[in-house]
Amino acid sequence: MLRQVLLAASSSQGIRRLVSTAPVTRDVVARFVAGESAADALAVTERLIADGFTVTLDYLGEDTTEPLEAAAAARQYLSLLERLRAAGVTSGGRAEVSVKPTALGLGLPGDGEAVAAGHIAEICEVARAAGTTVTVDMEDHTHVDATLQLVAKLRADYPDLGCVLQSYLRRTPGDCETLAVAGSRVRLCKGAYRAPDGVALAVRSEVDRAYARCMRILLDGPGHPMLATHDPRLIEIAGFRARSTGRAPDSFEYQMLYGVRPDEQRRLLDSGARVRVYLPYGRDWYGYLVRRLAERPANLTFFLRALASRG
Ligand SMILES: Cc1cc2nc3c(=O)[nH]c(=O)nc-3n(C[C@H](O)[C@H](O)[C@H](O)COP(=O)(O)OP(=O)(O)OC[C@H]3O[C@@H](n4cnc5c(N)ncnc54)[C@H](O)[C@@H]3O)c2cc1C
Repeated sequence: MLRQVLLAASSSQGIRRLVSTAPVTRDVVARFVAGESAADALAVTERLIADGFTVTLDYLGEDTTEPLEAAAAARQYLSLLERLRAAGVTSGGRAEVSVKPTALGLGLPGDGEAVAAGHIAEICEVARAAGTTVTVDMEDHTHVDATLQLVAKLRADYPDLGCVLQSYLRRTPGDCETLAVAGSRVRLCKGAYRAPDGVALAVRSEVDRAYARCMRILLDGPGHPMLATHDPRLIEIAGFRARSTGRAPDSFEYQMLYGVRPDEQRRLLDSGARVRVYLPYGRDWYGYLVRRLAERPANLTFFLRALASRG
């Protein structure tokens, strides 16, 4: 219920202004976001990689309404990849990038799909030259078909292009079967957007059960599963399944968000697992922050308490 309210609030301009201008917001944002600039992102990336993690960087922004904005977002990724390469952190895919199709034009009227595909192809080309990969984030359910089609087409030229499946969608076990093939990189998450009952599972326990089922499909297949969750039970099931099917530790990875359960990230790393941290940066952090607050009431309480104490 609270989650629904918060996700609905994320589109209110009044609430956006209030949250964005509250002084305490800066502290909360800093917990989840590397900073506003590519230099900030690089500094945190270098620290995480020195600690043994791998990283996927997200330049914040979504739902672009202008072709020029989409082109600007693509340029950000190209120069970020250049920076990462020059710093020597891209080889072997240690630092890669995550892209949101709507930030790169998918929702533009007319030829949005072609615009997004063109930008993603360009980013893939530069990533490949730097020795790393790209993963296409999954957004609102209305974009799932277009995103999966776009990824399928681009994979002909860039077979290591990763994509994301969300266990809260009823269709996802079928998509997992389709994508559990050799060479395919699939990130599995629960799903962070609002969706109607017809397309999504309404009850959290069902979403969790679906996650476990999808995870089994991916781990039993020949691809490279990327298990994106902070859920202790699901992480335990993943480890058990991987061991019982004899998967090598470097043949799959856990992924978690920057600032969420850092102790668990470290514990998994120390156990010999591969752990990739999803690291957002940029000025357009509002939608991302609201999704994080909606996921966990404790984050929201922390935020509201700090807001109240500073007046
Ligand atoms: C790497 C990564 C990439 C993602 N990419 C996408 C994407 O492309 N599209 C998309 O829709 N969503 C994406 N998500 C978000 C995802 O869909 C979920 O909304 C988010 O990860 C929360 O789900 P959860 O699996 O952690 O489970 P939840 O049900 O939110 O949490 C499960 C349990 O994890 C623990 N936990 C969670 N948060 C905390 C915390 N802050 N502190 C302590 N314990 C905590 C608690 O025990 C909690 O009960 C991504 C998530 C990750 C980690």
